[in-house]
Amino acid sequence: MAKDPVCGMYVEEKPDVIRHSVEGKEYFFCSNQCLDEFTAPEKELKKLKRYVAISIGLTLPITVLTYVMLLPTAINNYVLLALATPVQFWIGWRFYRGLWDGIKAKTSNMDTLIAVGTSAAYFYSAIITIMAAGSLTSILRVRQLSTTNCSAPIAVIFLRCFLWDILMPIDSEPQANTLQPSGV
Ligand SMILES: [Zn+2]
Repeated sequence: MAKDPVCGMYVEEKPDVIRHSVEGKEYFFCSNQCLDEFTAPEKELKKLKRYVAISIGLTLPITVLTYVMLLPTAINNYVLLALATPVQFWIGWRFYRGLWDGIKAKTSNMDTLIAVGTSAAYFYSAIITIMAAGSLTSILRVRQLSTTNCSAPIAVIFLRCFLWDILMPIDSEPQANTLQPSGV
């Protein structure tokens, strides 16, 4: 197995796996996202910076509105869902893309876990918001926490990726060592 030089995941060197050659050396990737980060790191870092700002900017009001009831419950629930939707499907689109790459390669990656986990929280929130009546406060409370459970992990993951890219660029010496296929 080879090590994905971007995320560090071990990838089977199968014919349908995403790969890229540099000076005759072949690298294997768990997703097209990792390939993009490898081939155009500056462009991806700029995009990542924007996504970190937007996801944190949306997650902060979600967290406040989840725990501090500033609005009537029915309105609050729809506001929370409206704030969580762009985080889930716009900012988090890369996780769905990675999930699809994993399906095509008949494997799973970190994107699979994130896409499935945050989607479960998001759709649970959406169903409860649409179906629940204003009197079902106990169910609504669970929904509010679920909205935070889909947007907060995405914001944290983007922040972690951003900090990692700044502190450990792909072409740095320690990271370069991990480019070698593991031979496992
Ligand atoms: Zn990867």
